[in-house]
Amino acid sequence: MTARIIDGKAHAAALRARVAAGVAAFVDSTGRAPGLAVVLVGTDPASDVYVRSKGKATLAAGMIGTEHRLSAETTEAALLALVGDLNADPAVDGILVQLPLPRHIDAAAVIAAIDPDKDVDGFHVVNAGRLAVGAPGFVPCTPLGCALLLEEVLGDLSGLGAVVIGRSNIVGKPMAQLLVDRNCTVTIAHSRTRDLKSVVARADIVVAAVGRAEMIRGDWLKPGATVIDVGINRVDDAHGRRLVGDVAYDEALAVAGAITPVPGGVGPMTIAVLLRNTLVAAHARSGLPAPAL
Ligand code: NDP
Repeated sequence: MTARIIDGKAHAAALRARVAAGVAAFVDSTGRAPGLAVVLVGTDPASDVYVRSKGKATLAAGMIGTEHRLSAETTEAALLALVGDLNADPAVDGILVQLPLPRHIDAAAVIAAIDPDKDVDGFHVVNAGRLAVGAPGFVPCTPLGCALLLEEVLGDLSGLGAVVIGRSNIVGKPMAQLLVDRNCTVTIAHSRTRDLKSVVARADIVVAAVGRAEMIRGDWLKPGATVIDVGINRVDDAHGRRLVGDVAYDEALAVAGAITPVPGGVGPMTIAVLLRNTLVAAHARSGLPAPAL
């Protein structure tokens, strides 16, 4: 058996096309395009790549993207002042402050300053709380992208056993909540989990968000399981310099029912969901019902 490869690029392109159609309809009814403001502090090369690709995707969807690039020496007060200006700007529907921030800036304080109704990254505690109680709000882009992929591959997830490996606030915890909301029976595993292999062996769905290259081996998986690999790990070995996930992909292909590749799986969905969240924010801020996406 060879697993079905889940084409994240194709699913993301389809979502982006639906968002672009929604943007056109929004412009027709309101006379303005949704606006996303992205803030980058410093010159981290990976963050620079992410910010550029978010900017390009925003424009391609017909939205107004603005980039605010600040020097690495920017003070926390200056960044908070910019966030305040963006909160007050009626043309801005979504605000994203690219992480990580330089050490002298308290990232939690900056996230807390973002208007929760413009928090399209879904990192504000108000949005984390809304997710926890099942109220409408913004869900972090990566786990929401994973949930959308799972629904496209499996349809109804009710009753399936899922393991989420990783418990970060931006991936693992919201992922587990999204799966519970979809009626999965969820186990959250982390660095203190005992006998992870047997936890994984029981799962119909495995979401790996650890950040350890190829840690999850093919023979850990239940045959036919659906594997969502969130990990992005840079390795330099006998096969050269490349990106690998948290799952040993070649081994998993022989056991899993379906699997996301790295790259080309979860990554493209993250940006597509950011655009989706921005369109949803624009509708809510204009008093319109949420778009069907
Ligand atoms: P964090 O470092 O914040 O969290 C990692 C989690 O993995 C922690 O909960 C940690 O447990 C757990 N963990 C570490 N070692 C083990 C182990 N040996 N066994 C079981 N669990 C372990 O990472 P993030 O959640 O931010 O990101 C996870 C991965 O996803 C990274 O590779 C990151 O690059 C990638 N990523 C990809 C995105 C995309 O768009 N594709 C977006 C965001 C992240 P504990 O809590 O006990 O320390």
